[in-house]
Amino acid sequence: MNKLTMINDRVTYQGVWTDKEIFGKIPKGVKLKETPKFKTLTDVKRFVGFNMLSDPQKMPEEAFNIPAQMCKAGAFMIHIKGSVCSICYAYDRGRYIFQNVKDAMLRRYNYAMYSPHFVDVMSWLINHRRGGKSHITWFRWFDSGDIQDEKMLDNICKICRATPNTNHWLPSKEWKIVTKYVHSNKLPKNLTIRLSGLMIDGQPPTKLAKKLGLTTSTVITHETYDKILFKCPSSKQDGHCNGFTRKKGADGGCRACWSGGVVNVPYLYH
Ligand code: SF4
Repeated sequence: MNKLTMINDRVTYQGVWTDKEIFGKIPKGVKLKETPKFKTLTDVKRFVGFNMLSDPQKMPEEAFNIPAQMCKAGAFMIHIKGSVCSICYAYDRGRYIFQNVKDAMLRRYNYAMYSPHFVDVMSWLINHRRGGKSHITWFRWFDSGDIQDEKMLDNICKICRATPNTNHWLPSKEWKIVTKYVHSNKLPKNLTIRLSGLMIDGQPPTKLAKKLGLTTSTVITHETYDKILFKCPSSKQDGHCNGFTRKKGADGGCRACWSGGVVNVPYLYH
């Protein structure tokens, strides 16, 4: 089943889409609606028709995801033994196997790819955490999935600029897309892009990352873990960035992934 069929099947059989604009079905010459001024989270939900943000347990605050099946580099890497993609936690594993989770990710994919309101809606949600007055401080892009093209990366950069009080972290195996984009665009200061290593216990793409002014991440086994000084501490703090508190949005804990000063973050393969 190719991507297009899969999307069309969802549209046909589930009828879950509320905003026809997002599928590019608007006839030529018809003017698109402007994004309305939202006052509450309910306004956004009514307008979009579903929850745009994901809420991964490990993260201190909310995130954004799309199906891992849409990963471009991942589509090849998943078949390679010893690759990080071959053990992907989001590819039909864990909570990502549930139909409601799959549907939610597919809706987000469609909205991010096709809706002219994606930047406005995401910026509002990040600036109004859970509909309240505060903003999201630590935002993660793609707890599942990856950037699809330069346009999507450009939209993410626009969202970062519209949410200056938020730290954004974007891990990516789409080295080509990122390289092309960085060569002709300036990245926002509040965005940390980490080029992800492709193989378990493999080297991170340090040379490329340095050239682009970016950081990296890798996945390592227990044997390597013991030899390295700094590594993701989540396995020692109940699988969470915040340590044992698990309180979303709590201060403290580790935020290394968001820090441009941490050149490489190794995660334990488990
Ligand atoms: S390195 Fe720190 S911030 Fe990154 S995932 Fe691990 S605990 Fe969270």
